[in-house]
Amino acid sequence: MAKSNRILVGLVCKECNQQNYVTVRSKINTQEPLKLRKFCNKCKKQTDHKEKKKLD
Ligand SMILES: [Zn+2]
Repeated sequence: MAKSNRILVGLVCKECNQQNYVTVRSKINTQEPLKLRKFCNKCKKQTDHKEKKKLD
């Protein structure tokens, strides 16, 4: 319980808002929201994905 500097975040497609990925990132090393180009199953193409608020 001592180290909890890692948070679980979802990555949602910017075009359809579907959450396609879940990732873990460090609160300490990464302060800015993630932005990644990933494949969206709904759009059937690569789209920009942005970070959603942390998951439980
Ligand atoms: Zn999409």
